[in-house]
Amino acid sequence: MRYHNITKDDMLNGEGLRVVLWVAGCSHCCSGCQNPMTWDPNGGLLFDEAAKQEIYEQLDHSYISGITFSGGDPLHHANHFDVMHFMAEIKEKYPNKTIWLYTGDSWEEIRFDPIMKYIDVLIDGEFKMEERDVTLYWKGSRNQRVIDVKKSLEQEATEVPVIYCDDYKNEGADYAANCTVSKG
Ligand code: SF4
Repeated sequence: MRYHNITKDDMLNGEGLRVVLWVAGCSHCCSGCQNPMTWDPNGGLLFDEAAKQEIYEQLDHSYISGITFSGGDPLHHANHFDVMHFMAEIKEKYPNKTIWLYTGDSWEEIRFDPIMKYIDVLIDGEFKMEERDVTLYWKGSRNQRVIDVKKSLEQEATEVPVIYCDDYKNEGADYAANCTVSKG
């Protein structure tokens, strides 16, 4: 796996303060993508032991809520295996930290992927310029969904994702039926 950047104390790509790994490789080619330089799976730097330790140093801080995988697409075939194994290590080492992941794939396509057992929150779907909205939390276009993966997998009908509760702020009452935690 290759990557472009590791950002620290990030407040824009998930809840709390996070470390974000921006991987190389994406085949979605969304029109209006903000990171087209990340599409090439051969771009960037090799994700080596030093890069891994850089992330662990961040996760060691109690104020860091967790890690977000973005890119590029962490589920691109060039990344999937390494991302899943790294997630397994993180969950073992830091069971209380959350894992968020951005992908251009849709929940319906990937809900049975074994990587889901490591992901807490998934932002799915390609970026669509015609649905772009800069006021949304954690996503660039309205078609994308911020999904509570654990709750979605607990349901019998996994094809209907449970929307992560804070996404309710984005969508209002229409998503209330899918939101299993009271907003108070
Ligand atoms: S999935 Fe994300 S990284 Fe890939 S082309 Fe679309 S917006 Fe860009």
